[in-house]
Amino acid sequence: MTDTLIPDMAESGATIDGLELRTQLFIGGQFRDAAGGGRFTTENPATGRPLAEVARGGAADVADAVRVARRAADDGRWSRMSPGDRKAVLLRWATLIEANAQELGIIETLDAGKPITDTVGLDMPETAACIRWHAEATDKLYGEVAPAPEGVVATITREPVGVVAAVIPWNYPAQMAAWKLGPALATGNTIVIKPASTTSLSLLRIAELGAEAGIPDGVLNVVTGPGDTVGEALGRHPDVDCLAFTGSTEVGRRFLTWSAESNLKRVLLELGGKSPQLVFPDVTDVAGLAQHVALAIFWNMGENCSAGSRLIVHRSIKERVVDAVQAELANWPVGDPLDPATRIGALINRGHMERVLHYVDVGRREGARVVAGGERILEHTGGYFVPPTIFDNVRNDMTIAREEIFGPVLSVIEFDTEAEAVALANDTPYGLAASLYTDDLNIAHRVARELKAGVVGVNAYAEGDMTTPFGGYKLSGFGGHDKSLHAHDQYTETKTTWIQLRGPG
Ligand code: NAD
Repeated sequence: MTDTLIPDMAESGATIDGLELRTQLFIGGQFRDAAGGGRFTTENPATGRPLAEVARGGAADVADAVRVARRAADDGRWSRMSPGDRKAVLLRWATLIEANAQELGIIETLDAGKPITDTVGLDMPETAACIRWHAEATDKLYGEVAPAPEGVVATITREPVGVVAAVIPWNYPAQMAAWKLGPALATGNTIVIKPASTTSLSLLRIAELGAEAGIPDGVLNVVTGPGDTVGEALGRHPDVDCLAFTGSTEVGRRFLTWSAESNLKRVLLELGGKSPQLVFPDVTDVAGLAQHVALAIFWNMGENCSAGSRLIVHRSIKERVVDAVQAELANWPVGDPLDPATRIGALINRGHMERVLHYVDVGRREGARVVAGGERILEHTGGYFVPPTIFDNVRNDMTIAREEIFGPVLSVIEFDTEAEAVALANDTPYGLAASLYTDDLNIAHRVARELKAGVVGVNAYAEGDMTTPFGGYKLSGFGGHDKSLHAHDQYTETKTTWIQLRGPG
Protein backbone atom coordinates (compact mmCIF):
# COMPACT_ATOMS: atom_id res chain seq x y z
CA MET A 1 0.00 0.00 0.00
CA THR A 2 1.35 3.41 -0.86
CA ASP A 3 0.69 6.20 1.53
CA THR A 4 1.67 9.22 -0.48
CA LEU A 5 -1.58 11.11 -0.70
CA ILE A 6 -3.10 9.93 2.52
CA PRO A 7 -3.03 12.41 5.37
CA ASP A 8 -3.30 11.78 9.09
CA MET A 9 -5.87 14.49 9.49
CA ALA A 10 -7.02 17.31 7.28
CA GLU A 11 -8.74 20.21 8.99
CA SER A 12 -11.37 22.18 7.13
CA GLY A 13 -9.81 23.65 4.01
CA ALA A 14 -6.46 22.01 4.68
CA THR A 15 -4.57 20.75 1.68
CA ILE A 16 -3.43 17.21 0.95
CA ASP A 17 -0.52 17.40 -1.44
CA GLY A 18 -2.21 20.35 -3.10
CA LEU A 19 -5.71 18.92 -2.79
CA GLU A 20 -8.06 21.38 -1.12
CA LEU A 21 -11.07 19.72 0.47
CA ARG A 22 -14.39 21.53 0.81
CA THR A 23 -15.85 20.45 4.13
CA GLN A 24 -18.56 23.01 4.94
CA LEU A 25 -22.22 23.22 4.08
CA PHE A 26 -22.97 24.88 0.73
CA ILE A 27 -26.05 27.07 1.09
CA GLY A 28 -27.09 30.08 -1.00
CA GLY A 29 -23.87 29.91 -2.99
CA GLN A 30 -21.65 30.12 0.12
CA PHE A 31 -19.68 27.62 2.13
CA ARG A 32 -20.42 27.93 5.84
CA ASP A 33 -20.22 25.98 9.06
CA ALA A 34 -23.21 24.16 10.50
CA ALA A 35 -25.44 26.32 12.72
CA GLY A 36 -24.46 24.26 15.76
CA GLY A 37 -20.78 24.44 14.79
CA GLY A 38 -20.50 20.64 14.90
CA ARG A 39 -18.24 18.52 12.73
CA PHE A 40 -17.77 14.84 12.12
CA THR A 41 -14.81 12.86 10.88
CA THR A 42 -14.78 11.19 7.52
CA GLU A 43 -12.10 8.54 7.12
CA ASN A 44 -10.13 6.94 4.36
CA PRO A 45 -11.44 3.36 4.09
CA ALA A 46 -8.11 2.19 2.68
CA THR A 47 -6.24 3.13 5.86
CA GLY A 48 -8.92 3.51 8.50
CA ARG A 49 -7.40 6.89 9.24
CA PRO A 50 -9.20 10.25 9.45
CA LEU A 51 -9.40 12.16 6.21
CA ALA A 52 -11.34 15.34 6.98
CA GLU A 53 -13.64 17.01 9.48
CA VAL A 54 -16.95 17.76 7.79
CA ALA A 55 -19.71 20.15 8.92
CA ARG A 56 -22.38 18.30 10.87
CA GLY A 57 -25.55 19.86 9.56
CA GLY A 58 -28.77 19.64 11.56
CA ALA A 59 -32.44 20.56 11.38
CA ALA A 60 -31.66 24.30 11.57
CA ASP A 61 -29.37 24.03 8.55
CA VAL A 62 -31.99 22.08 6.62
CA ALA A 63 -34.55 24.77 7.45
CA ASP A 64 -32.14 27.42 6.24
CA ALA A 65 -31.27 25.55 3.02
CA VAL A 66 -34.93 24.89 2.21
CA ARG A 67 -35.78 28.57 2.85
CA VAL A 68 -33.02 29.65 0.47
CA ALA A 69 -34.08 27.06 -2.13
CA ARG A 70 -37.72 28.15 -1.84
CA ARG A 71 -36.80 31.78 -2.38
CA ALA A 72 -34.79 30.80 -5.46
CA ALA A 73 -37.67 28.67 -6.74
CA ASP A 74 -40.25 31.42 -6.23
CA ASP A 75 -38.33 34.30 -7.75
CA GLY A 76 -37.80 32.31 -10.94
CA ARG A 77 -34.08 33.02 -11.20
CA TRP A 78 -33.66 29.48 -12.51
CA SER A 79 -37.10 28.17 -13.45
CA ARG A 80 -37.86 31.20 -15.63
CA MET A 81 -34.40 31.47 -17.12
CA SER A 82 -34.74 30.69 -20.82
CA PRO A 83 -34.17 26.97 -21.42
CA GLY A 84 -31.29 27.78 -23.75
CA ASP A 85 -29.54 29.82 -21.06
CA ARG A 86 -30.17 27.15 -18.43
CA LYS A 87 -28.73 24.61 -20.80
CA ALA A 88 -25.61 26.71 -21.31
CA VAL A 89 -24.99 26.92 -17.56
CA LEU A 90 -25.40 23.17 -17.10
CA LEU A 91 -23.15 22.43 -20.08
CA ARG A 92 -20.45 24.67 -18.57
CA TRP A 93 -20.84 22.74 -15.33
CA ALA A 94 -20.39 19.39 -17.10
CA THR A 95 -17.27 20.73 -18.79
CA LEU A 96 -15.85 21.90 -15.45
CA ILE A 97 -16.51 18.50 -13.87
CA GLU A 98 -14.70 16.85 -16.76
CA ALA A 99 -11.80 19.29 -16.53
CA ASN A 100 -11.47 18.54 -12.83
CA ALA A 101 -12.01 14.78 -13.10
CA GLN A 102 -8.54 13.98 -11.81
CA GLU A 103 -8.95 16.04 -8.64
CA LEU A 104 -12.52 14.84 -8.09
CA GLY A 105 -11.49 11.24 -8.69
CA ILE A 106 -8.73 11.45 -6.11
CA ILE A 107 -11.15 12.97 -3.59
CA GLU A 108 -13.65 10.18 -4.29
CA THR A 109 -11.03 7.47 -3.99
CA LEU A 110 -9.70 8.85 -0.69
CA ASP A 111 -13.19 9.25 0.74
CA ALA A 112 -14.90 6.09 -0.57
CA GLY A 113 -12.09 3.54 -1.07
CA LYS A 114 -13.02 3.15 -4.74
CA PRO A 115 -10.29 2.30 -7.27
CA ILE A 116 -8.77 5.39 -8.85
CA THR A 117 -9.17 3.88 -12.32
CA ASP A 118 -12.92 3.82 -11.74
CA THR A 119 -13.28 7.22 -10.10
CA VAL A 120 -11.16 9.13 -12.63
CA GLY A 121 -11.98 7.00 -15.64
CA LEU A 122 -15.63 6.24 -15.05
CA ASP A 123 -17.38 7.95 -12.16
CA MET A 124 -16.37 11.51 -13.02
CA PRO A 125 -16.79 11.20 -16.81
CA GLU A 126 -20.20 9.59 -16.18
CA THR A 127 -21.11 12.35 -13.73
CA ALA A 128 -20.27 14.99 -16.34
CA ALA A 129 -22.04 13.00 -19.07
CA CYS A 130 -25.19 12.78 -16.97
CA ILE A 131 -25.29 16.53 -16.37
CA ARG A 132 -24.58 17.13 -20.06
CA TRP A 133 -27.28 14.73 -21.25
CA HIS A 134 -29.98 16.40 -19.17
CA ALA A 135 -28.62 19.85 -20.06
CA GLU A 136 -29.00 19.01 -23.74
CA ALA A 137 -32.62 18.07 -23.18
CA THR A 138 -33.45 21.40 -21.50
CA ASP A 139 -34.47 23.23 -24.66
CA LYS A 140 -35.91 20.21 -26.44
CA LEU A 141 -38.84 19.46 -24.20
CA TYR A 142 -42.12 20.46 -25.75
CA GLY A 143 -45.57 20.65 -24.23
CA GLU A 144 -48.66 19.20 -25.87
CA VAL A 145 -51.84 20.55 -27.42
CA ALA A 146 -54.80 18.33 -26.66
CA PRO A 147 -57.45 17.40 -29.26
CA ALA A 148 -59.99 19.71 -27.60
CA PRO A 149 -63.45 20.53 -28.99
CA GLU A 150 -64.01 23.45 -31.38
CA GLY A 151 -63.70 26.77 -29.53
CA VAL A 152 -61.23 25.44 -26.99
CA VAL A 153 -57.45 25.42 -26.88
CA ALA A 154 -56.16 22.94 -24.33
CA THR A 155 -52.45 22.77 -23.55
CA ILE A 156 -50.57 20.31 -21.42
CA THR A 157 -47.41 21.85 -20.06
CA ARG A 158 -44.68 20.89 -17.64
CA GLU A 159 -43.69 22.95 -14.63
CA PRO A 160 -40.95 22.32 -12.11
CA VAL A 161 -42.25 20.79 -8.88
CA GLY A 162 -40.39 23.52 -6.98
CA VAL A 163 -38.00 22.56 -4.19
CA VAL A 164 -36.49 19.10 -4.55
CA ALA A 165 -34.59 17.40 -1.74
CA ALA A 166 -32.24 14.54 -2.54
CA VAL A 167 -30.71 12.05 -0.13
CA ILE A 168 -28.07 9.83 -1.68
CA PRO A 169 -25.84 6.86 -0.79
CA TRP A 170 -22.06 6.41 -0.55
CA ASN A 171 -21.37 3.82 -3.24
CA TYR A 172 -21.23 6.18 -6.24
CA PRO A 173 -21.29 9.53 -4.47
CA ALA A 174 -20.77 11.78 -7.48
CA GLN A 175 -22.79 9.73 -9.96
CA MET A 176 -25.77 9.25 -7.67
CA ALA A 177 -25.78 13.00 -7.06
CA ALA A 178 -25.71 13.64 -10.81
CA TRP A 179 -28.63 11.28 -11.40
CA LYS A 180 -30.72 13.59 -9.20
CA LEU A 181 -29.12 16.95 -9.98
CA GLY A 182 -29.17 16.56 -13.78
CA PRO A 183 -32.90 16.06 -14.32
CA ALA A 184 -34.03 18.14 -11.31
CA LEU A 185 -32.03 21.20 -12.37
CA ALA A 186 -32.63 20.77 -16.10
CA THR A 187 -36.37 20.95 -15.46
CA GLY A 188 -36.00 24.19 -13.49
CA ASN A 189 -36.19 23.08 -9.88
CA THR A 190 -34.05 24.20 -6.98
CA ILE A 191 -32.51 21.52 -4.82
CA VAL A 192 -31.16 20.70 -1.38
CA ILE A 193 -29.01 17.59 -1.52
CA LYS A 194 -27.59 15.50 1.30
CA PRO A 195 -24.66 13.21 0.58
CA ALA A 196 -24.07 10.10 2.70
CA SER A 197 -22.03 11.20 5.70
CA THR A 198 -19.23 8.79 4.79
CA THR A 199 -18.78 10.47 1.38
CA SER A 200 -19.51 14.20 1.42
CA LEU A 201 -16.38 15.56 -0.20
CA SER A 202 -16.79 15.13 -3.97
CA LEU A 203 -20.30 16.60 -3.98
CA LEU A 204 -19.15 19.73 -2.15
CA ARG A 205 -16.52 20.35 -4.81
CA ILE A 206 -19.00 19.59 -7.60
CA ALA A 207 -21.42 22.12 -6.09
CA GLU A 208 -18.66 24.71 -6.05
CA LEU A 209 -18.00 24.02 -9.73
CA GLY A 210 -21.72 24.50 -10.32
CA ALA A 211 -21.51 28.01 -8.89
CA GLU A 212 -18.46 28.68 -11.07
CA ALA A 213 -20.49 27.53 -14.09
CA GLY A 214 -23.19 30.07 -13.27
CA ILE A 215 -25.85 28.16 -11.33
CA PRO A 216 -27.47 31.02 -9.42
CA ASP A 217 -27.06 31.19 -5.65
CA GLY A 218 -29.68 29.22 -3.78
CA VAL A 219 -30.51 26.89 -6.67
CA LEU A 220 -28.14 24.11 -5.57
CA ASN A 221 -27.53 23.62 -1.85
CA VAL A 222 -25.64 20.85 -0.05
CA VAL A 223 -26.27 19.96 3.58
CA THR A 224 -23.83 17.42 4.98
CA GLY A 225 -24.49 15.45 8.13
CA PRO A 226 -26.03 12.29 9.53
CA GLY A 227 -29.01 10.65 7.90
CA ASP A 228 -31.11 10.48 11.03
CA THR A 229 -31.00 14.27 11.47
CA VAL A 230 -30.43 15.89 8.06
CA GLY A 231 -32.19 13.14 6.10
CA GLU A 232 -35.17 13.03 8.40
CA ALA A 233 -35.45 16.83 8.53
CA LEU A 234 -35.64 16.90 4.74
CA GLY A 235 -38.14 14.05 4.70
CA ARG A 236 -40.42 15.83 7.17
CA HIS A 237 -39.98 19.38 5.87
CA PRO A 238 -43.34 20.89 4.92
CA ASP A 239 -41.83 23.09 2.21
CA VAL A 240 -40.00 20.39 0.26
CA ASP A 241 -42.12 19.45 -2.77
CA CYS A 242 -40.33 16.28 -3.82
CA LEU A 243 -37.90 13.97 -2.10
CA ALA A 244 -35.63 11.80 -4.22
CA PHE A 245 -33.95 9.07 -2.24
CA THR A 246 -31.40 6.46 -3.24
CA GLY A 247 -30.37 4.04 -0.52
CA SER A 248 -31.57 1.09 1.47
CA THR A 249 -35.13 -0.16 1.40
CA GLU A 250 -35.33 0.19 5.18
CA VAL A 251 -34.59 3.94 5.14
CA GLY A 252 -36.62 4.45 1.96
CA ARG A 253 -39.77 3.28 3.74
CA ARG A 254 -39.34 6.01 6.34
CA PHE A 255 -39.49 8.73 3.72
CA LEU A 256 -42.92 7.51 2.69
CA THR A 257 -44.07 7.73 6.31
CA TRP A 258 -42.61 11.21 6.73
CA SER A 259 -44.27 12.36 3.53
CA ALA A 260 -47.61 11.04 4.74
CA GLU A 261 -47.14 12.76 8.09
CA SER A 262 -46.08 16.11 6.60
CA ASN A 263 -47.11 17.64 3.27
CA LEU A 264 -47.57 14.58 1.04
CA LYS A 265 -44.42 15.52 -0.82
CA ARG A 266 -43.72 13.36 -3.83
CA VAL A 267 -41.31 10.56 -2.84
CA LEU A 268 -39.03 8.83 -5.34
CA LEU A 269 -37.28 5.72 -4.09
CA GLU A 270 -34.32 3.92 -5.70
CA LEU A 271 -33.57 1.09 -3.29
CA GLY A 272 -31.71 -2.16 -2.80
CA GLY A 273 -31.45 -5.34 -4.82
CA LYS A 274 -30.59 -9.01 -4.88
CA SER A 275 -30.21 -9.38 -8.58
CA PRO A 276 -30.01 -12.73 -10.38
CA GLN A 277 -27.68 -13.71 -13.22
CA LEU A 278 -29.11 -16.68 -15.12
CA VAL A 279 -26.86 -18.95 -17.17
CA PHE A 280 -28.52 -21.37 -19.59
CA PRO A 281 -26.78 -24.56 -20.72
CA ASP A 282 -26.41 -23.59 -24.38
CA VAL A 283 -23.91 -20.78 -23.70
CA THR A 284 -20.76 -21.32 -25.76
CA ASP A 285 -18.48 -18.45 -24.71
CA VAL A 286 -18.04 -19.38 -21.06
CA ALA A 287 -14.88 -17.26 -20.59
CA GLY A 288 -16.67 -14.18 -21.97
CA LEU A 289 -19.65 -14.92 -19.75
CA ALA A 290 -17.35 -15.14 -16.73
CA GLN A 291 -16.07 -11.63 -17.39
CA HIS A 292 -19.61 -10.28 -17.23
CA VAL A 293 -20.49 -12.34 -14.18
CA ALA A 294 -17.43 -11.05 -12.32
CA LEU A 295 -18.12 -7.46 -13.35
CA ALA A 296 -21.70 -7.77 -12.17
CA ILE A 297 -20.76 -8.79 -8.65
CA PHE A 298 -17.24 -7.51 -8.01
CA TRP A 299 -17.32 -4.09 -9.65
CA ASN A 300 -17.18 -1.37 -6.99
CA MET A 301 -16.45 -4.05 -4.36
CA GLY A 302 -19.99 -5.34 -4.82
CA GLU A 303 -21.21 -2.09 -3.27
CA ASN A 304 -23.63 -1.76 -6.09
CA CYS A 305 -27.42 -1.74 -5.92
CA SER A 306 -27.66 -3.71 -9.14
CA ALA A 307 -24.92 -6.21 -8.20
CA GLY A 308 -25.65 -9.62 -9.71
CA SER A 309 -25.24 -11.39 -6.39
CA ARG A 310 -27.07 -14.63 -7.29
CA LEU A 311 -25.57 -16.73 -10.07
CA ILE A 312 -28.36 -19.09 -11.07
CA VAL A 313 -26.74 -21.60 -13.40
CA HIS A 314 -27.83 -24.78 -15.13
CA ARG A 315 -26.55 -27.87 -13.35
CA SER A 316 -24.88 -29.25 -16.50
CA ILE A 317 -22.65 -26.21 -16.96
CA LYS A 318 -22.19 -25.07 -13.36
CA GLU A 319 -18.74 -26.48 -12.75
CA ARG A 320 -17.33 -24.93 -15.94
CA VAL A 321 -18.90 -21.57 -15.14
CA VAL A 322 -17.65 -21.50 -11.55
CA ASP A 323 -14.15 -22.47 -12.71
CA ALA A 324 -14.21 -19.71 -15.33
CA VAL A 325 -15.35 -17.09 -12.81
CA GLN A 326 -12.62 -18.22 -10.43
CA ALA A 327 -10.06 -17.92 -13.23
CA GLU A 328 -11.41 -14.44 -13.99
CA LEU A 329 -10.51 -13.34 -10.45
CA ALA A 330 -6.90 -12.99 -11.62
CA ASN A 331 -8.15 -9.85 -13.38
CA TRP A 332 -9.57 -8.39 -10.16
CA PRO A 333 -6.58 -7.43 -8.01
CA VAL A 334 -7.42 -6.10 -4.57
CA GLY A 335 -5.35 -3.36 -3.02
CA ASP A 336 -4.51 0.30 -2.69
CA PRO A 337 -7.35 2.20 -4.36
CA LEU A 338 -4.82 4.83 -5.48
CA ASP A 339 -2.90 2.23 -7.49
CA PRO A 340 -4.14 2.26 -11.10
CA ALA A 341 -3.77 -1.54 -11.25
CA THR A 342 -6.32 -2.05 -8.45
CA ARG A 343 -9.82 -3.14 -9.40
CA ILE A 344 -11.10 -3.85 -5.89
CA GLY A 345 -10.49 -1.20 -3.28
CA ALA A 346 -11.68 -0.96 0.30
CA LEU A 347 -15.20 -1.39 1.64
CA ILE A 348 -16.67 1.86 2.89
CA ASN A 349 -16.02 1.47 6.63
CA ARG A 350 -15.33 -1.00 9.41
CA GLY A 351 -19.01 -1.49 10.26
CA HIS A 352 -19.86 -2.38 6.68
CA MET A 353 -16.87 -4.73 6.37
CA GLU A 354 -17.96 -6.51 9.54
CA ARG A 355 -21.47 -6.80 8.16
CA VAL A 356 -20.17 -8.38 4.94
CA LEU A 357 -17.95 -10.81 6.90
CA HIS A 358 -20.90 -11.65 9.13
CA TYR A 359 -22.86 -12.72 6.05
CA VAL A 360 -19.90 -14.84 4.98
CA ASP A 361 -20.02 -16.59 8.37
CA VAL A 362 -23.76 -17.09 8.10
CA GLY A 363 -23.31 -18.57 4.63
CA ARG A 364 -20.77 -21.07 5.94
CA ARG A 365 -22.97 -21.97 8.91
CA GLU A 366 -26.01 -22.50 6.69
CA GLY A 367 -24.04 -25.03 4.60
CA ALA A 368 -22.77 -23.12 1.57
CA ARG A 369 -19.17 -23.75 0.51
CA VAL A 370 -16.62 -20.96 0.04
CA VAL A 371 -14.60 -21.56 -3.13
CA ALA A 372 -12.84 -18.18 -3.22
CA GLY A 373 -12.13 -15.39 -0.73
CA GLY A 374 -14.12 -15.30 2.47
CA GLU A 375 -11.68 -13.52 4.83
CA ARG A 376 -10.51 -9.98 5.43
CA ILE A 377 -7.13 -9.30 3.81
CA LEU A 378 -4.46 -6.56 3.95
CA GLU A 379 -5.37 -5.93 7.58
CA HIS A 380 -1.95 -4.39 8.30
CA THR A 381 -2.95 -1.39 6.17
CA GLY A 382 -5.78 -0.54 8.55
CA GLY A 383 -8.07 -0.65 5.50
CA TYR A 384 -11.28 -2.61 5.03
CA PHE A 385 -10.44 -5.10 2.32
CA VAL A 386 -12.49 -8.17 1.48
CA PRO A 387 -11.50 -10.09 -1.67
CA PRO A 388 -13.95 -11.50 -4.22
CA THR A 389 -15.82 -14.25 -2.44
CA ILE A 390 -17.70 -17.08 -4.14
CA PHE A 391 -20.11 -19.43 -2.40
CA ASP A 392 -21.04 -22.68 -4.12
CA ASN A 393 -23.91 -24.99 -3.09
CA VAL A 394 -26.22 -22.13 -2.18
CA ARG A 395 -29.96 -22.64 -1.90
CA ASN A 396 -32.20 -19.69 -2.65
CA ASP A 397 -33.70 -19.82 0.83
CA MET A 398 -30.35 -19.26 2.53
CA THR A 399 -29.73 -15.89 4.15
CA ILE A 400 -26.90 -15.04 1.73
CA ALA A 401 -29.27 -15.54 -1.21
CA ARG A 402 -32.08 -13.52 0.31
CA GLU A 403 -30.52 -10.47 1.95
CA GLU A 404 -28.59 -7.70 0.25
CA ILE A 405 -24.95 -8.06 1.33
CA PHE A 406 -23.66 -5.07 -0.66
CA GLY A 407 -20.18 -6.58 -0.83
CA PRO A 408 -18.12 -8.78 -3.18
CA VAL A 409 -19.99 -11.99 -2.38
CA LEU A 410 -21.43 -14.22 -5.10
CA SER A 411 -23.87 -17.05 -4.36
CA VAL A 412 -24.04 -19.90 -6.89
CA ILE A 413 -27.40 -21.66 -7.16
CA GLU A 414 -28.23 -24.55 -9.51
CA PHE A 415 -31.32 -25.12 -11.66
CA ASP A 416 -32.57 -27.86 -13.98
CA THR A 417 -35.37 -26.30 -16.02
CA GLU A 418 -36.13 -22.88 -17.49
CA ALA A 419 -39.24 -22.59 -15.35
CA GLU A 420 -37.22 -23.32 -12.25
CA ALA A 421 -34.60 -20.73 -13.24
CA VAL A 422 -37.25 -18.04 -13.66
CA ALA A 423 -38.94 -18.99 -10.39
CA LEU A 424 -35.64 -18.80 -8.50
CA ALA A 425 -34.75 -15.47 -10.11
CA ASN A 426 -38.10 -13.94 -9.15
CA ASP A 427 -38.14 -15.49 -5.68
CA THR A 428 -36.79 -12.37 -3.96
CA PRO A 429 -38.45 -9.34 -2.43
CA TYR A 430 -36.31 -7.16 -4.71
CA GLY A 431 -36.56 -6.44 -8.44
CA LEU A 432 -33.88 -4.02 -9.54
CA ALA A 433 -31.82 -5.77 -12.20
CA ALA A 434 -31.28 -9.18 -13.77
CA SER A 435 -29.10 -10.65 -16.47
CA LEU A 436 -29.35 -13.80 -18.49
CA TYR A 437 -26.93 -15.62 -20.72
CA THR A 438 -27.97 -17.81 -23.63
CA ASP A 439 -27.22 -18.21 -27.32
CA ASP A 440 -30.87 -19.04 -27.98
CA LEU A 441 -32.97 -16.05 -29.04
CA ASN A 442 -36.14 -17.78 -27.91
CA ILE A 443 -34.89 -18.32 -24.38
CA ALA A 444 -33.58 -14.74 -24.31
CA HIS A 445 -36.94 -13.18 -25.19
CA ARG A 446 -39.05 -15.60 -23.15
CA VAL A 447 -37.02 -15.26 -20.00
CA ALA A 448 -36.40 -11.50 -20.26
CA ARG A 449 -40.17 -11.08 -20.37
CA GLU A 450 -40.70 -13.24 -17.29
CA LEU A 451 -38.13 -11.56 -15.06
CA LYS A 452 -39.56 -9.14 -12.50
CA ALA A 453 -36.83 -6.52 -12.67
CA GLY A 454 -36.51 -2.93 -13.88
CA VAL A 455 -33.42 -3.62 -16.02
CA VAL A 456 -32.69 -6.92 -17.76
CA GLY A 457 -29.32 -7.50 -19.46
CA VAL A 458 -29.07 -10.21 -22.10
CA ASN A 459 -25.61 -11.69 -22.61
CA ALA A 460 -24.18 -8.78 -20.63
CA TYR A 461 -24.27 -7.29 -17.23
CA ALA A 462 -25.78 -3.94 -18.10
CA GLU A 463 -27.62 -1.07 -16.50
CA GLY A 464 -28.27 0.56 -19.86
CA ASP A 465 -26.92 4.06 -20.37
CA MET A 466 -28.14 7.62 -19.89
CA THR A 467 -30.79 7.13 -22.58
CA THR A 468 -32.57 4.34 -20.67
CA PRO A 469 -34.50 4.55 -17.40
CA PHE A 470 -33.18 2.91 -14.26
CA GLY A 471 -35.39 1.81 -11.41
CA GLY A 472 -36.77 -1.24 -9.73
CA TYR A 473 -39.81 -3.40 -9.14
CA LYS A 474 -41.06 -4.52 -5.72
CA LEU A 475 -38.85 -3.49 -2.77
CA SER A 476 -36.24 -2.05 -5.14
CA GLY A 477 -38.08 1.10 -5.93
CA PHE A 478 -41.12 3.26 -6.08
CA GLY A 479 -42.28 6.50 -7.62
CA GLY A 480 -40.18 6.96 -10.72
CA HIS A 481 -36.95 6.30 -12.54
CA ASP A 482 -33.51 7.82 -12.75
CA LYS A 483 -31.84 8.55 -16.10
CA SER A 484 -33.40 9.17 -19.53
CA LEU A 485 -36.30 11.54 -20.22
CA HIS A 486 -38.38 9.45 -17.79
CA ALA A 487 -36.34 11.07 -15.01
CA HIS A 488 -37.84 14.43 -16.02
CA ASP A 489 -41.34 13.19 -15.21
CA GLN A 490 -40.27 12.81 -11.61
CA TYR A 491 -39.37 16.47 -11.21
CA THR A 492 -42.22 18.09 -13.13
CA GLU A 493 -45.88 18.75 -12.56
CA THR A 494 -48.24 18.33 -15.50
CA LYS A 495 -50.57 21.26 -16.00
CA THR A 496 -53.68 21.35 -18.15
CA THR A 497 -54.77 24.80 -19.35
CA TRP A 498 -58.24 24.84 -20.88
CA ILE A 499 -58.85 28.04 -22.85
CA GLN A 500 -62.40 28.78 -23.93
CA LEU A 501 -62.36 31.05 -26.99
CA ARG A 502 -65.08 33.64 -27.44
CA GLY A 503 -66.80 33.82 -30.81
CA PRO A 504 -66.33 36.86 -33.08
CA GLY A 505 -68.29 40.03 -32.19
P1 NAD B 1 -28.67 4.09 3.51
O1 NAD B 1 -30.12 3.89 3.30
O2 NAD B 1 -28.09 3.68 4.81
O3 NAD B 1 -28.28 5.62 3.32
C1 NAD B 1 -28.67 6.35 2.18
C2 NAD B 1 -28.81 7.80 2.56
O4 NAD B 1 -29.83 7.89 3.57
C3 NAD B 1 -27.55 8.42 3.16
O5 NAD B 1 -27.46 9.76 2.75
C4 NAD B 1 -27.82 8.33 4.65
O6 NAD B 1 -27.13 9.33 5.38
C5 NAD B 1 -29.32 8.55 4.71
N1 NAD B 1 -29.92 7.96 5.90
C6 NAD B 1 -29.45 6.92 6.64
N2 NAD B 1 -30.25 6.68 7.69
C7 NAD B 1 -31.26 7.59 7.62
C8 NAD B 1 -32.39 7.86 8.42
N3 NAD B 1 -32.65 7.17 9.52
N4 NAD B 1 -33.21 8.84 8.04
C9 NAD B 1 -32.97 9.56 6.93
N5 NAD B 1 -31.89 9.37 6.14
C10 NAD B 1 -31.05 8.40 6.48
O7 NAD B 1 -27.96 3.38 2.29
P2 NAD B 1 -26.41 3.31 1.99
O8 NAD B 1 -25.83 2.36 2.98
O9 NAD B 1 -25.84 4.69 1.88
O10 NAD B 1 -26.41 2.72 0.53
C11 NAD B 1 -26.60 1.38 0.29
C12 NAD B 1 -28.01 1.09 -0.16
O11 NAD B 1 -28.36 1.95 -1.24
C13 NAD B 1 -28.15 -0.30 -0.69
O12 NAD B 1 -29.34 -0.86 -0.22
C14 NAD B 1 -28.18 -0.10 -2.18
O13 NAD B 1 -28.80 -1.14 -2.87
C15 NAD B 1 -28.91 1.18 -2.30
N6 NAD B 1 -28.64 1.84 -3.59
C16 NAD B 1 -29.64 1.86 -4.53
C17 NAD B 1 -29.41 2.45 -5.78
C18 NAD B 1 -30.49 2.47 -6.84
O14 NAD B 1 -30.37 3.25 -7.78
N7 NAD B 1 -31.54 1.68 -6.74
C19 NAD B 1 -28.17 3.02 -6.05
C20 NAD B 1 -27.19 2.97 -5.08
C21 NAD B 1 -27.45 2.39 -3.84
